[in-house]
Amino acid sequence: TALLPRLQDVRDPFVPDGPAPVLAHLEARDISAWFGDRLVLDRVSLAMPAGKITALIGPSGCGKSTFLRILNRMHELVPSAQLSGQVLLDGDNIYSPEKKLTDARRAIGMVFQKPNPFPAMSIEENVLAGLALTGTKADRDTRESLVESCLTKAGLWNEVKDRLDAPGGGLSGGQQQRLCIARSLAVKPRVLLMDEPCSALDPTSTRVIEETMIELAREVTIVIVTHNMQQAARVSDKCAFFLASQGTPGVIVEHGDTRAMFERPQDPRTDDYVNGRF
Ligand code: ADP
Ligand code: MG
Repeated sequence: TALLPRLQDVRDPFVPDGPAPVLAHLEARDISAWFGDRLVLDRVSLAMPAGKITALIGPSGCGKSTFLRILNRMHELVPSAQLSGQVLLDGDNIYSPEKKLTDARRAIGMVFQKPNPFPAMSIEENVLAGLALTGTKADRDTRESLVESCLTKAGLWNEVKDRLDAPGGGLSGGQQQRLCIARSLAVKPRVLLMDEPCSALDPTSTRVIEETMIELAREVTIVIVTHNMQQAARVSDKCAFFLASQGTPGVIVEHGDTRAMFERPQDPRTDDYVNGRF
């Protein structure tokens, strides 16, 4: 397969201003998931290395979103949902009885397919909304600098710095998605989960978000679900191919370095999928 040049390969070298971020390693071990009696993921294990972008690919219904929600304990919001296995954040199981749900959600942020800013709240209030949810206090100066740094990291600052009081709902779709990224960054997550973050966006906004993601991976470990093979090839370092065939639960058929997986898939089903044959 001829691939576009990876955005990853053309980024500038990282010159930190201040202490280098401590990057988080995320690992799922033996994850099985049920909705009621129905097993939808069967003993899935995957390492998502620190400071890398891991792409989860595969057809609809194979459990990618379920897997992603398990990574920050959102799966348990569904009453019928059951789960076994472990999710290790730097070696600590976020499902251990002594771990708090809010700590996991705060350390591991989520961005959804459909941009969901609070439409009536201002851009600034949107960025700070996550702080209120986690009960974090910050004085006025801290809040202002946080708003600027999060919007900058989300690639939105220049477009909105003169209208931080404008409602979030007035932004374009791509800007709203970047606002959601800024909001998720405000609580200083160590991992960012993104469930098809560009599916509702046009190609130009998609490109901007991809570039934003690659910059963010310098300080946050990223896991992205995508249907777009070109996107997986452009942004991700690692890739995992999920499949649930004929009513069987979802499993990972193959995972590894993205480039190797696209150029030399080991499993014929991966080959078929990445080359658009199903
Ligand atoms: P993907 O993101 O790969 O399209 P999902 O994780 O959304 O897959 O879904 C995996 C399977 O779990 C599907 O068969 C889906 O119908 C089922 N499922 C997802 N969410 C729920 C839910 N809240 N209740 C019951 N079944 C669900
Ligand atoms: Mg999904």
